Amino acid sequence: MRETPNWPDPRAHILRHRPDTAMVYFCPAVLQATARRFQQGFDGLVTYAVKANAGEEVLTNLVAAGIRAFDVASPREMYAVRAVCPDAVLHYHNPVRSPEEVAVAVALGVTSYSVDCARELDKLSGVPAGAEMSVRLALPVAGAAYDFGEKFGVGPDQAIELLSAVVARGFTPSVTFHPGTQCADPTAWASYIKVVGEVARTAGVTLARLNVGGGFAAHRIGAAPDLEAIFDHIRAEVDAVFGEDAPALVCEPGRAMVADAFTLATRVKALRSDGSVFLNDGIYGGLFEMRDIECTDRVTVLTEEGVWRGGAMQARIVFGPTCDSIDRLPDALLLPQEMAEGDYVLFAGMGAYSRSLTTQFNGYGLGAPVTVAAL
Ligand SMILES: *Cc1c(COP(=O)(O)O)cnc(C)c1O
Repeated sequence: MRETPNWPDPRAHILRHRPDTAMVYFCPAVLQATARRFQQGFDGLVTYAVKANAGEEVLTNLVAAGIRAFDVASPREMYAVRAVCPDAVLHYHNPVRSPEEVAVAVALGVTSYSVDCARELDKLSGVPAGAEMSVRLALPVAGAAYDFGEKFGVGPDQAIELLSAVVARGFTPSVTFHPGTQCADPTAWASYIKVVGEVARTAGVTLARLNVGGGFAAHRIGAAPDLEAIFDHIRAEVDAVFGEDAPALVCEPGRAMVADAFTLATRVKALRSDGSVFLNDGIYGGLFEMRDIECTDRVTVLTEEGVWRGGAMQARIVFGPTCDSIDRLPDALLLPQEMAEGDYVLFAGMGAYSRSLTTQFNGYGLGAPVTVAAL
């Protein structure tokens, strides 16, 4: 079932209901347009990394836009996808799994896994022969908001050994990497693709597929990232490195797929004489990620009467609603000089790693998503 927009936009809902709980507004049209943009621009299979936002309305609308394959990291994510799309293809790309988790995946018919050490490959011995094993490569590559290679992945030498082991066990060999999230630098992909070529050649293995990960940047600060330029860069680099033998490509965006489809609306609870503001949401809620990534500059302020605040701006310290002193944004936020208690502060592009990370700490949290026709 597709969500039918109940409201033209967040402002209309705010004006009517004056919500006093932090809200998320979801625009299915934006999500479906982004899914089509990936499918048209990326020369390979587009999968969605469920962890960015596992909301049922997200999964449903991605399926409606033609996405059929999903990057999942846990049994619960697998069940969530299959609940909205029974024949969805699942790529189990969390390289560390318990035997019980592997058993669930096998029972669900998962035939794509990632591995980053021999022990994890051993754990997959019950997976039927022929299944795809993508060796997860990690390189010290800069360009992202934070480095995913610190936790998962092997360097080139071990990747060569693992690829040979994958083939020796009768599995289908592929390679995967993740350049790090919110990566706006196309050369990060190019560095990886070069090394993948060397690894495959040295191992003497023809790769079935190359999964170039997620990491595509969402629109957070300044201009919107040029996704097509990154897609073209990836294609050109794969052609240059592999020529005729190029493996089929796969990507697994989370953030860039879903970020723009949601706006987070918070409310000013208190305005202090030093200029600081207390919002009804903070780092335990929809602003969780601001601890690790610079806050978006796509912030607008609406009065209770529905007027957008403009004029001069000032840097304000922003506190969240809980009684915990660390519940504050690490950096001051540029907000209008003219502001009042009861105003709404709207953060655009908050669909990824926002709702999925929200807690109910201290009795706060986010209201159920409200569907809108436009953001
Ligand atoms: C988190 C993750 C993704 C999605 O990353 P984004 O930066 O949100 O695009 C893709 N693949 C794997 C294996 C991941 O762990």
